[in-house]
Amino acid sequence: MKIDKLAKAYRVEGGKHFRLKDFDPADTGHWRSKEHAQEVLQQGIVSTAALQDKLYAQGHWSLLLIFQAMDAAGKDGIIKHVMTGVNPQGCQVYSFKAPSDVELQHDFLWRTTHCLPERGHIGIFNRSYYEEVLVVRVHPEILKSQKLPSSLVGKNIWEERFEDIRGFERHMARSGTVIRKFFLYVSKKEQKRRFLARLEEPEKNWKFSAADIRERQCWDDYQEAYEHLIRNTSTGHAPWYVVPADNKWFTRIVVSAVIVDTLESLSLAYPKVDESKRKELEAAKKLLLSK
Ligand code: ATP
Ligand code: MG
Repeated sequence: MKIDKLAKAYRVEGGKHFRLKDFDPADTGHWRSKEHAQEVLQQGIVSTAALQDKLYAQGHWSLLLIFQAMDAAGKDGIIKHVMTGVNPQGCQVYSFKAPSDVELQHDFLWRTTHCLPERGHIGIFNRSYYEEVLVVRVHPEILKSQKLPSSLVGKNIWEERFEDIRGFERHMARSGTVIRKFFLYVSKKEQKRRFLARLEEPEKNWKFSAADIRERQCWDDYQEAYEHLIRNTSTGHAPWYVVPADNKWFTRIVVSAVIVDTLESLSLAYPKVDESKRKELEAAKKLLLSK
């Protein structure tokens, strides 16, 4: 599979018929190994950096990348990889944890709005408002702690949240924020292997959290919640990508291909220098050379 096809291959089109079982967490396209993919990974980093420079200089569009996954699927590693080579001045990362007391006094999208990337910037969400239809759905007691008026919590609450998210993302898209969403799809077996490594290898111990093992007990509920949300929130302007995550090097190629493909589609260019600006530059040069 060619690199430019990679971005399309894992994109969810026509969400209605989406089924997780049509994707394979261990898929690696036709790439055999990390070594085989090394050059492509490197190219992706170089292209992203060059495109980000134009995005920043032009200052019209912004790019929002959302990462969702089960624990140990490799979100942190992917974010580190995406950040490699980009100018940190034009890129922000936000990690969304359980909401604070202040955040719980507001609607569920409130805390997101001031974390959105400004024009010319890339914003990365490590988890996001999608937790509101994931962890909150899998553990309904969390919904109870959200202080919503009880008459507003009915059996359609998840459909309503999907609708609100779609509306929010449509609004963002119309304002110039390009949204790309990634579900890093790891298998249960691979997650177990990575958890065991966290328990057994001293330099990985710090990553281990007992809470992760508890969430693992709800694996099937999470898979169902993911399937449902992807089906309901994959749209033309804010598509989901289901990225195979059992092989980290492959996850990286796919994410990188999507980012490059997306930025290329924006026809980014450095701002043109008009006549008066050109004169200003010439005058400045003259002055500089005169003393
Ligand atoms: P890592 O473990 O790699 O450092 P993480 O994203 O798993 O990263 P944690 O601090 O372990 O970070 O977990 C964050 C927790 O916050 C997750 O269990 C997630 O489900 C929870 N969370 C995030 N958003 C919400 C939300 N809106 N409502 C309730 N819980 C949330
Ligand atoms: Mg965690």
